[in-house]
Amino acid sequence: MQEKYEFCPNCQSKISSSIFSENIIVLESYTRLINRFTENRALAHCQKCQPDLLEKARSNCFDILEELKEKLNAQTFKLRKLTQFVPIVTLQVPQDWKYKSLEIVSAQTVSGTGIISEIASNWTDFFGKDSKFYSEKIKGGEEKCKSILRAQTIKLGGNAILGTDIDYSEAGGSKGMLMVCMAGTAVKITNLDELDYNSVALNEIDEIMNVVEQLEIQIEELTQFVEKNGNSFTRN
Ligand SMILES: [Zn+2]
Repeated sequence: MQEKYEFCPNCQSKISSSIFSENIIVLESYTRLINRFTENRALAHCQKCQPDLLEKARSNCFDILEELKEKLNAQTFKLRKLTQFVPIVTLQVPQDWKYKSLEIVSAQTVSGTGIISEIASNWTDFFGKDSKFYSEKIKGGEEKCKSILRAQTIKLGGNAILGTDIDYSEAGGSKGMLMVCMAGTAVKITNLDELDYNSVALNEIDEIMNVVEQLEIQIEELTQFVEKNGNSFTRN
């Protein structure tokens, strides 16, 4: 419910709705935005004082968002270096591991091999050698799949992948597309210190993920607040 004001609680301008000098109290959503993102705590604003304050609120809000996103990027950068330490094993039940199963993780990559590889492959097949080209393509696909599995795993709060399975197939018929599929179970090892893995890196991942989660919550809350109080705020 909007109160009736004779004067704007913020700038004391006269509130009137005559056709000659209209100055009305603006929507509460604008005041909420101004109150949240500027130092101004007035109970309401009028058409005269709102535009500048709202612009200031908008600009401050974007600064805050920008700062949060930069923090998130910095954490992501650290994670990129650390995820390589997340073990991916084909074993179903590794000895000495104590863990909690989380969820299945899976990844697919498709890469083109092209016409040149066909010639190269025939040539090397003739001599019974491995096609270097193919093995490089496969290796590349595998590495990409592993990165995806690791990213999914840490997102789930895990630190290792068990029972990993790899499949290769040709996709796209005669187009020479090579598909690599990988799937496993994301788990959280609970006795890291007793195992022969880089526990420092894996624990750091855990800490970073907590920070990331907090940042994501803040960004989400901020975005929702802005959206709820007028979409126009988020544009431009
Ligand atoms: Zn005013």
